[in-house]
Amino acid sequence: MQAKWTENDLFLFQHLIQEDADLENALEQSHKNQFPEHEVSKTQGMLLSILIRMSKSKRVLELGTLAGYSTIWMAKAIPDDGVVVSLESELDKYELASKNILCTGLQDRVDLICGPAAQSLQKLIDAEVEPFDFIFIDADKPNNPLYLRLCLQLSHSGTVIFGDNVIREGELCNAENKDPKVMGVRQYIQDLGSCEHLDSTAIQTVGIKGYDGFTLTFVK
Ligand code: SAM
Repeated sequence: MQAKWTENDLFLFQHLIQEDADLENALEQSHKNQFPEHEVSKTQGMLLSILIRMSKSKRVLELGTLAGYSTIWMAKAIPDDGVVVSLESELDKYELASKNILCTGLQDRVDLICGPAAQSLQKLIDAEVEPFDFIFIDADKPNNPLYLRLCLQLSHSGTVIFGDNVIREGELCNAENKDPKVMGVRQYIQDLGSCEHLDSTAIQTVGIKGYDGFTLTFVK
């Protein structure tokens, strides 16, 4: 089925997503540096962009920058006085993302922070920064439950939280699977469901990135 999913995604890219030199450059640089192809797909990038514009989000928080591909999608979706704060633990990823963002000219709208996301989030909480309107959780999945607890302290009523890669080829519901990534997303979803201040849903997806899915949460 993967070939069919890929073929259909390529059709969707061709008809729905305009070529964008900044995004293409970020992808090209990422592949040239042999970074894992873990960035969102083009249609997923557009989904983030539409959600940010629909929610009129100005302050965006991203966990997991990689080469800055999704960061650029989101930076292009916010107004001039908005900001995307993106957290990345690996120095080589942080450095390439910084270069890629500089190439777009959007550096005034992007704040990249290098270091483990949990520490960076705690620093943002301690600094009492303004809460974020849109949060994209896309870093190491075992820490998703911790990220949720920290991100909720950086949220306000109306914040939208997008959690990527939560279906994990259908292993989410397999209680026998002790992979820390699967266990992380399972706990994350259980935590979302048990928090009365949150409305959450999840959508399973297939496409060029395989079989996966995402959660979408509204902070009440
Ligand atoms: N959001 C990116 C995109 O769509 O273009 C893809 C992010 S990729 C799925 C996950 C990223 O999280 C990797 O770059 C990885 O180095 C980073 N990461 C892993 N563990 C992390 C941690 N503890 N803190 C911050 N970033 C981490």
